[in-house]
Amino acid sequence: MTQESDLSCQGLVRRFGAHTAVDHVSLDVPAGAFFSILGPSGCGKTTLLRLLAGFDRPDEGEIRIRGQRMNEVPPNRRPVNMVFQHLALFPTMTVGDNIAYGLKRQKVPAAERRRRVAEVLEQVGLPGLADRNPQELSGGQRQRVALARCLVLRPTLLLLDEPLGALDLKLREQMKVELKHLQKAFGTTFVYITHDQSEAMVMSDQVAVMRAGRFEQVASPEQLYREPATPFVAGFVGDNNRLSGELVGLDAGLADVRLPDGTRVRGRLAGEAPAKGAPVALFVRPEALVLAGEALRPDYATVRTEVRTTLFDGANSRVEVRHGDQTLYARLPQDGSAPRLTEGSTLYLAWDPALARVFALGEP
Ligand code: ATP
Repeated sequence: MTQESDLSCQGLVRRFGAHTAVDHVSLDVPAGAFFSILGPSGCGKTTLLRLLAGFDRPDEGEIRIRGQRMNEVPPNRRPVNMVFQHLALFPTMTVGDNIAYGLKRQKVPAAERRRRVAEVLEQVGLPGLADRNPQELSGGQRQRVALARCLVLRPTLLLLDEPLGALDLKLREQMKVELKHLQKAFGTTFVYITHDQSEAMVMSDQVAVMRAGRFEQVASPEQLYREPATPFVAGFVGDNNRLSGELVGLDAGLADVRLPDGTRVRGRLAGEAPAKGAPVALFVRPEALVLAGEALRPDYATVRTEVRTTLFDGANSRVEVRHGDQTLYARLPQDGSAPRLTEGSTLYLAWDPALARVFALGEP
């Protein structure tokens, strides 16, 4: 644990019968960070959050908040608050009373409560709405009230369980940006769980990618995107193309891969070098794919593909192509230089090997 950590966990385990929902998770969240736990449904995110909140106890491991051991501390004694997906504002109370509820329980005097409610409403961009009923607010405004209700208590740590999940797409996009701004403005440490990689990528300082109870990688969004540590992370975070093949050779960190039709392609090897002939997966982002042509450096890898569909998308086209039985997506500029991308036409695509990543397969 570093000095500035707000939350630090060591070797957390939670089992349900034979199933290990949280499997030796360790993490360290610096003060003031926006930390997301990203993973598919059922990977153990909610179970982990419940351990942090104190609604559930770990079978093994330790939870510390600002250096204090929390394992035996009940939820209401932890400096932690939680925002749920289905936010439960009290429908019969005004916005102001909803927000003041926790302060009242803490026996904060009425005048002080009113001052803090007004202040936090201002901070979340809802000044003067204290006397409204929750039903009179939009979904986005209600979400901000739910946040205000937690933030007014000034927790060390705010835990958020898919808080944008119930909002429609447009509002969700808007709230992503707002939430990030609010988090920075308050300086509260956020631990945010989501299965939506774009949410995690847009808002977080650090993202832990979780799979089957374990953290696969903890890194900044940019690092996850550029340097995924495992094939799962490469496939889960951002759009990515995956080509299966076998390792033919290695040269200065670049793996030489043979695809099933005999085409040789290259990419940077991630992790330990496997034996020659080992099955590997090469990942290359749609935006790294370019049209093959004479102007390319000779070390670029090229594959022959067949166009399936082309979707016009403003400045770019999103092109779906096939190479043998493998599907790839490319994002190609619409500047008149592109060939006619009609269905069934042949397209040679290339990439800089430094932008592709190759993983040995075989681990689970
Ligand atoms: P989602 O995104 O769908 O909410 P999640 O990543 O939050 O999923 P969890 O709800 O933490 O996943 O569940 C992880 C695993 O633990 C699942 O297989 C789930 O069935 C199991 N599990 C969770 N709570 C219990 C429980 N109280 N008893 C038994 N099994 C449980």
